[in-house]
Amino acid sequence: MNLLVVGSVALDSVKTPFGSADDVLGGSATYFSVSASYFTDVCMVGVVGEDFREEYIDILKERNIDIDGIEKRKGRTFRWKGEYGYDLNEAHTLDTQLNVFADFNPKIPEKYKECRYVFLANIDPDLQREILNQMKRPELIACDTMNFWIERKYESLKKTMEQVDIVIINEGEVRELAREPNLVKAAQKILSWGPKRLIAKRGEYGAIMFSDSAIFSAPAYPLESVYDPTGAGDSFAGGFMGYISNVNNINESTIRQAIIFGSTMASFNVEDFSLNRLRNLSLREIEDRFKEFKRLTHFDDLT
Ligand code: AMP
Repeated sequence: MNLLVVGSVALDSVKTPFGSADDVLGGSATYFSVSASYFTDVCMVGVVGEDFREEYIDILKERNIDIDGIEKRKGRTFRWKGEYGYDLNEAHTLDTQLNVFADFNPKIPEKYKECRYVFLANIDPDLQREILNQMKRPELIACDTMNFWIERKYESLKKTMEQVDIVIINEGEVRELAREPNLVKAAQKILSWGPKRLIAKRGEYGAIMFSDSAIFSAPAYPLESVYDPTGAGDSFAGGFMGYISNVNNINESTIRQAIIFGSTMASFNVEDFSLNRLRNLSLREIEDRFKEFKRLTHFDDLT
């Protein structure tokens, strides 16, 4: 047991200019776990309904993810329906059905409480703190959130931020959360609440990390074929946290490498719908793309 994630497990219906998929496996905890599973032992806490198909459970099992923390409840699984236009950076939510997720009250199984690394995916910030209260002594805690919670539970969200080490959210959410249009000032404001680092995800423009002493900017991989950006943010977080928990050494250098591994995993994820690409990777493919990232930004000593 090394890395714990708590978040949504979903059946997504997604339409992009390149195709569509209905009722396919998705959810923030799912994308995170499959991505992180290439680096470390992952345990997952979430809830599904009676309609959650065995083949989806098998996908998680094939990746050796511990799913004892996934509760099966009476009712239907959480459903999200979204659409993307040619600007794939912006998802338009068409429908959200919380179903069994509505009264999700995560219970952390005893054996997960020792996990050294914790990722609080996008759920009610009150629940995020309840999870932390159940954990023994995690070494590093990261969290995500979204506009839904920023608009409804601002004060609670600020309290969660006080308790986490790294906040990983979309660039637009950074501005909204800080109520500040300038990204640098917005990041400084969020860091003043407690987290040591803030990572702003910028879709096809990559990611930028802020801390008190440094700023690090990473590009996204320039892909020719992007089919479905759903889950890119969670795959990023999974690669990032997965790598850090694997090396088990948190310093500026490992954090920066983790950002590139996060970007690597996100770049694979968008190449197909649902988890179709992410679940079938080889370590060689991941390493090769990591190296490509190095070449992409290298500008010194080219002789
Ligand atoms: P992203 O990485 O931001 O593209 O996350 C996409 C995933 O978030 C989808 O698979 C959805 O099932 C899930 N999702 C969408 N809305 C919510 C929500 N309100 N709460 C939790 N998960 C959500």
